[in-house]
Amino acid sequence: MGLRDFSNDHSALALNTATLGHNLEGHGAGWSPEQVIDACASRRMAGIVFWQREIGERAVEIGNRVRAAGMEVVGLCRTPYITGSDAPKSLNEARASIDMAAELGTSVLTIVTGGTEPGTLGVMESQKILAERVAKLAEYAAPLGVQLALEPLNPMFGGNRTCIFSVRDALNVCEAAQSYNVGIAVDVYHVWWDSRLHDDLQRARGRILGYHLCDWLEKTSHMLLDRGMMGDGVADLKAIRASVEDAGYTGACEVEIFSSQHWWQRDPDEVLDTIVERFKAVC
Ligand code: ZN
Repeated sequence: MGLRDFSNDHSALALNTATLGHNLEGHGAGWSPEQVIDACASRRMAGIVFWQREIGERAVEIGNRVRAAGMEVVGLCRTPYITGSDAPKSLNEARASIDMAAELGTSVLTIVTGGTEPGTLGVMESQKILAERVAKLAEYAAPLGVQLALEPLNPMFGGNRTCIFSVRDALNVCEAAQSYNVGIAVDVYHVWWDSRLHDDLQRARGRILGYHLCDWLEKTSHMLLDRGMMGDGVADLKAIRASVEDAGYTGACEVEIFSSQHWWQRDPDEVLDTIVERFKAVC
Protein backbone atom coordinates (compact mmCIF):
# COMPACT_ATOMS: atom_id res chain seq x y z
CA MET A 1 0.00 0.00 0.00
CA GLY A 2 1.02 3.63 0.30
CA LEU A 3 -0.04 6.53 -1.83
CA ARG A 4 0.98 6.40 -5.48
CA ASP A 5 3.82 8.84 -6.11
CA PHE A 6 2.82 11.28 -8.84
CA SER A 7 5.63 13.78 -8.24
CA ASN A 8 7.45 12.64 -11.34
CA ASP A 9 4.79 10.56 -13.05
CA HIS A 10 1.49 11.61 -14.57
CA SER A 11 0.66 8.34 -16.27
CA ALA A 12 -2.58 8.15 -14.22
CA LEU A 13 -3.75 11.60 -15.30
CA ALA A 14 -6.87 11.86 -17.44
CA LEU A 15 -8.79 14.81 -18.81
CA ASN A 16 -12.51 15.28 -18.44
CA THR A 17 -13.37 17.48 -21.40
CA ALA A 18 -15.62 19.66 -19.23
CA THR A 19 -12.34 21.26 -18.17
CA LEU A 20 -12.06 22.84 -21.62
CA GLY A 21 -15.62 24.11 -21.48
CA HIS A 22 -16.87 21.85 -24.21
CA ASN A 23 -20.02 20.62 -22.67
CA LEU A 24 -21.81 23.95 -22.45
CA GLU A 25 -22.99 26.10 -25.30
CA GLY A 26 -20.92 29.24 -25.82
CA HIS A 27 -18.03 28.17 -23.60
CA GLY A 28 -14.53 26.97 -24.30
CA ALA A 29 -12.22 27.16 -27.29
CA GLY A 30 -14.37 24.85 -29.37
CA TRP A 31 -11.74 22.22 -29.99
CA SER A 32 -12.90 19.12 -31.84
CA PRO A 33 -12.55 15.73 -30.12
CA GLU A 34 -9.60 15.10 -32.45
CA GLN A 35 -7.80 18.22 -31.23
CA VAL A 36 -8.39 17.23 -27.62
CA ILE A 37 -7.11 13.70 -28.30
CA ASP A 38 -3.94 14.98 -29.95
CA ALA A 39 -3.26 17.50 -27.18
CA CYS A 40 -3.71 14.89 -24.43
CA ALA A 41 -1.67 12.26 -26.29
CA SER A 42 1.19 14.68 -26.83
CA ARG A 43 1.27 15.21 -23.05
CA ARG A 44 1.24 11.43 -22.50
CA MET A 45 -1.97 11.40 -20.50
CA ALA A 46 -3.73 8.15 -19.60
CA GLY A 47 -6.96 9.01 -21.28
CA ILE A 48 -10.02 11.16 -21.74
CA VAL A 49 -13.55 11.35 -20.39
CA PHE A 50 -16.03 12.72 -22.89
CA TRP A 51 -19.49 14.19 -22.64
CA GLN A 52 -22.27 12.79 -24.79
CA ARG A 53 -22.86 15.99 -26.74
CA GLU A 54 -19.32 15.92 -28.15
CA ILE A 55 -19.71 12.41 -29.44
CA GLY A 56 -22.91 12.54 -31.50
CA GLU A 57 -22.96 9.64 -33.95
CA ARG A 58 -19.18 9.23 -33.89
CA ALA A 59 -18.68 7.07 -30.79
CA VAL A 60 -16.90 4.16 -32.51
CA GLU A 61 -14.66 6.47 -34.52
CA ILE A 62 -13.69 8.65 -31.54
CA GLY A 63 -13.05 5.64 -29.29
CA ASN A 64 -10.76 4.09 -31.89
CA ARG A 65 -8.96 7.37 -32.36
CA VAL A 66 -8.24 7.64 -28.62
CA ARG A 67 -6.80 4.12 -28.51
CA ALA A 68 -4.76 4.69 -31.67
CA ALA A 69 -3.20 7.65 -29.85
CA GLY A 70 -2.11 5.33 -27.05
CA MET A 71 -4.75 6.33 -24.51
CA GLU A 72 -8.03 5.01 -23.13
CA VAL A 73 -11.54 6.38 -23.03
CA VAL A 74 -11.67 6.53 -19.23
CA GLY A 75 -15.38 7.26 -19.05
CA LEU A 76 -18.49 8.86 -20.49
CA CYS A 77 -20.55 11.62 -18.87
CA ARG A 78 -23.38 10.91 -18.34
CA THR A 79 -26.87 9.40 -18.31
CA PRO A 80 -29.89 11.69 -18.28
CA TYR A 81 -31.38 12.07 -14.81
CA ILE A 82 -32.92 8.92 -13.39
CA THR A 83 -35.11 10.54 -10.73
CA GLY A 84 -36.72 13.94 -10.21
CA SER A 85 -39.05 16.05 -12.30
CA ASP A 86 -36.39 16.62 -14.99
CA ALA A 87 -35.88 12.89 -15.60
CA PRO A 88 -37.21 11.50 -18.89
CA LYS A 89 -40.38 9.43 -18.49
CA SER A 90 -38.71 6.21 -19.57
CA LEU A 91 -35.22 4.77 -19.12
CA ASN A 92 -34.67 4.54 -22.87
CA GLU A 93 -32.45 7.62 -23.05
CA ALA A 94 -30.32 6.22 -20.26
CA ARG A 95 -30.08 2.95 -22.18
CA ALA A 96 -28.92 4.94 -25.22
CA SER A 97 -26.10 6.43 -23.16
CA ILE A 98 -25.09 2.91 -22.13
CA ASP A 99 -24.99 2.02 -25.83
CA MET A 100 -22.80 5.05 -26.48
CA ALA A 101 -20.36 4.06 -23.71
CA ALA A 102 -20.09 0.59 -25.23
CA GLU A 103 -19.48 2.03 -28.70
CA LEU A 104 -16.78 4.32 -27.31
CA GLY A 105 -15.17 1.28 -25.74
CA THR A 106 -15.25 2.64 -22.21
CA SER A 107 -16.29 0.60 -19.20
CA VAL A 108 -17.50 3.50 -17.06
CA LEU A 109 -20.65 5.54 -17.49
CA THR A 110 -21.30 8.22 -14.88
CA ILE A 111 -24.73 8.79 -13.38
CA VAL A 112 -25.77 12.10 -11.88
CA THR A 113 -28.98 10.89 -10.37
CA GLY A 114 -31.42 13.77 -10.63
CA GLY A 115 -33.40 15.17 -7.73
CA THR A 116 -36.30 14.36 -5.51
CA GLU A 117 -38.92 12.28 -7.27
CA PRO A 118 -42.23 14.10 -7.91
CA GLY A 119 -44.86 13.11 -5.37
CA THR A 120 -42.26 12.45 -2.68
CA LEU A 121 -40.45 14.57 -0.10
CA GLY A 122 -36.93 14.39 1.23
CA VAL A 123 -34.53 11.91 -0.32
CA MET A 124 -35.10 8.44 1.13
CA GLU A 125 -37.98 7.52 -1.15
CA SER A 126 -36.07 8.89 -4.15
CA GLN A 127 -33.03 6.80 -3.26
CA LYS A 128 -35.22 3.71 -3.19
CA ILE A 129 -36.70 4.51 -6.59
CA LEU A 130 -33.21 5.30 -7.87
CA ALA A 131 -31.91 1.90 -6.77
CA GLU A 132 -34.73 0.11 -8.59
CA ARG A 133 -34.11 2.02 -11.81
CA VAL A 134 -30.33 1.67 -11.58
CA ALA A 135 -30.75 -2.10 -11.15
CA LYS A 136 -32.69 -2.21 -14.42
CA LEU A 137 -30.03 -0.17 -16.20
CA ALA A 138 -27.27 -2.33 -14.75
CA GLU A 139 -28.91 -5.40 -16.18
CA TYR A 140 -28.93 -3.76 -19.61
CA ALA A 141 -25.33 -2.56 -19.24
CA ALA A 142 -23.77 -5.80 -17.99
CA PRO A 143 -23.57 -7.73 -21.27
CA LEU A 144 -22.16 -4.59 -22.93
CA GLY A 145 -19.28 -4.47 -20.45
CA VAL A 146 -20.41 -1.13 -19.02
CA GLN A 147 -20.28 -0.27 -15.33
CA LEU A 148 -22.45 2.48 -13.85
CA ALA A 149 -20.78 5.00 -11.55
CA LEU A 150 -23.13 6.79 -9.17
CA GLU A 151 -21.67 10.22 -8.40
CA PRO A 152 -22.81 11.79 -5.13
CA LEU A 153 -23.04 15.58 -5.37
CA ASN A 154 -22.42 18.32 -2.85
CA PRO A 155 -25.62 18.78 -0.78
CA MET A 156 -26.25 22.20 -2.36
CA PHE A 157 -27.27 20.32 -5.52
CA GLY A 158 -30.19 18.66 -3.78
CA GLY A 159 -33.72 19.24 -5.03
CA ASN A 160 -33.26 19.20 -8.79
CA ARG A 161 -29.87 17.59 -9.54
CA THR A 162 -29.24 14.81 -7.07
CA CYS A 163 -30.76 12.63 -4.38
CA ILE A 164 -27.40 11.25 -3.17
CA PHE A 165 -25.10 13.57 -1.25
CA SER A 166 -22.24 11.51 0.10
CA VAL A 167 -20.22 8.38 -0.53
CA ARG A 168 -22.41 6.86 2.18
CA ASP A 169 -25.61 7.60 0.25
CA ALA A 170 -24.11 6.32 -3.00
CA LEU A 171 -23.00 3.05 -1.40
CA ASN A 172 -26.44 2.56 0.14
CA VAL A 173 -27.97 2.83 -3.33
CA CYS A 174 -25.32 0.45 -4.75
CA GLU A 175 -26.21 -2.11 -2.10
CA ALA A 176 -29.93 -1.71 -2.68
CA ALA A 177 -29.47 -2.11 -6.44
CA GLN A 178 -27.67 -5.43 -5.88
CA SER A 179 -25.83 -5.26 -9.20
CA TYR A 180 -22.18 -6.19 -9.56
CA ASN A 181 -21.63 -3.53 -12.25
CA VAL A 182 -22.77 -0.55 -10.17
CA GLY A 183 -20.24 1.51 -8.25
CA ILE A 184 -19.43 5.08 -7.34
CA ALA A 185 -17.46 8.05 -8.63
CA VAL A 186 -15.64 10.18 -6.06
CA ASP A 187 -15.31 13.83 -7.04
CA VAL A 188 -13.32 16.03 -4.66
CA TYR A 189 -15.61 18.97 -5.43
CA HIS A 190 -18.52 17.04 -3.97
CA VAL A 191 -16.91 15.23 -1.05
CA TRP A 192 -14.09 17.44 0.26
CA TRP A 193 -16.20 18.71 3.17
CA ASP A 194 -17.25 15.31 4.49
CA SER A 195 -15.59 14.41 7.80
CA ARG A 196 -16.84 10.84 7.42
CA LEU A 197 -15.32 10.39 3.98
CA HIS A 198 -12.37 8.20 4.96
CA ASP A 199 -14.52 5.79 6.97
CA ASP A 200 -17.23 5.66 4.32
CA LEU A 201 -14.67 4.92 1.62
CA GLN A 202 -13.55 1.89 3.59
CA ARG A 203 -16.95 0.43 2.72
CA ALA A 204 -16.37 1.21 -0.96
CA ARG A 205 -13.67 -1.38 -1.65
CA GLY A 206 -14.12 -2.71 -5.17
CA ARG A 207 -16.84 -0.16 -5.92
CA ILE A 208 -14.82 2.94 -6.82
CA LEU A 209 -15.04 3.43 -10.57
CA GLY A 210 -13.69 6.96 -10.88
CA TYR A 211 -11.82 9.71 -9.07
CA HIS A 212 -12.40 13.31 -10.16
CA LEU A 213 -10.00 16.14 -9.43
CA CYS A 214 -10.39 19.90 -9.10
CA ASP A 215 -10.36 22.14 -6.03
CA TRP A 216 -12.86 23.97 -3.85
CA LEU A 217 -12.14 27.69 -3.97
CA GLU A 218 -12.27 29.37 -0.58
CA LYS A 219 -14.46 32.13 -2.00
CA THR A 220 -16.36 30.34 -4.69
CA SER A 221 -18.60 32.56 -6.79
CA HIS A 222 -20.83 30.01 -8.53
CA MET A 223 -21.86 26.59 -7.34
CA LEU A 224 -21.68 24.93 -10.75
CA LEU A 225 -19.19 26.92 -12.81
CA ASP A 226 -16.50 28.15 -10.42
CA ARG A 227 -14.45 25.08 -9.66
CA GLY A 228 -10.80 25.66 -8.89
CA MET A 229 -7.61 24.29 -10.40
CA MET A 230 -5.90 21.80 -8.11
CA GLY A 231 -3.82 23.69 -5.58
CA ASP A 232 -5.84 26.91 -5.78
CA GLY A 233 -8.39 25.96 -3.13
CA VAL A 234 -8.93 24.39 0.26
CA ALA A 235 -9.64 20.73 -0.51
CA ASP A 236 -7.08 18.35 1.02
CA LEU A 237 -6.36 16.59 -2.24
CA LYS A 238 -3.65 14.25 -1.02
CA ALA A 239 -5.70 13.14 1.97
CA ILE A 240 -8.73 12.41 -0.21
CA ARG A 241 -6.64 10.43 -2.67
CA ALA A 242 -5.04 8.55 0.20
CA SER A 243 -8.52 7.48 1.36
CA VAL A 244 -9.56 6.53 -2.17
CA GLU A 245 -6.41 4.48 -2.73
CA ASP A 246 -6.62 2.96 0.72
CA ALA A 247 -9.98 1.61 -0.44
CA GLY A 248 -8.23 -0.11 -3.31
CA TYR A 249 -8.58 2.36 -6.17
CA THR A 250 -5.69 2.29 -8.65
CA GLY A 251 -7.36 3.83 -11.69
CA ALA A 252 -7.14 7.13 -13.51
CA CYS A 253 -7.45 10.52 -11.84
CA GLU A 254 -9.60 12.67 -14.07
CA VAL A 255 -9.41 16.43 -13.96
CA GLU A 256 -12.89 17.98 -14.17
CA ILE A 257 -12.93 21.75 -13.82
CA PHE A 258 -16.05 23.72 -14.68
CA SER A 259 -14.76 27.29 -14.65
CA SER A 260 -16.64 29.67 -16.92
CA GLN A 261 -14.89 32.85 -15.77
CA HIS A 262 -11.35 31.59 -15.46
CA TRP A 263 -10.03 28.37 -16.99
CA TRP A 264 -12.55 28.23 -19.81
CA GLN A 265 -11.32 31.66 -20.89
CA ARG A 266 -7.75 30.47 -21.35
CA ASP A 267 -5.92 28.79 -24.18
CA PRO A 268 -6.55 25.02 -23.82
CA ASP A 269 -2.83 24.31 -24.25
CA GLU A 270 -2.08 26.49 -21.25
CA VAL A 271 -4.85 24.78 -19.24
CA LEU A 272 -3.49 21.34 -20.09
CA ASP A 273 0.09 22.30 -19.22
CA THR A 274 -1.09 23.69 -15.88
CA ILE A 275 -3.00 20.47 -15.16
CA VAL A 276 0.08 18.32 -15.73
CA GLU A 277 2.17 20.60 -13.51
CA ARG A 278 -0.37 20.72 -10.67
CA PHE A 279 -1.09 17.03 -10.89
CA LYS A 280 2.52 16.28 -10.08
CA ALA A 281 2.86 19.04 -7.48
CA VAL A 282 -0.30 18.95 -5.36
CA CYS A 283 -2.53 15.98 -6.19
ZN1 ZN B 1 -17.31 14.64 -11.30
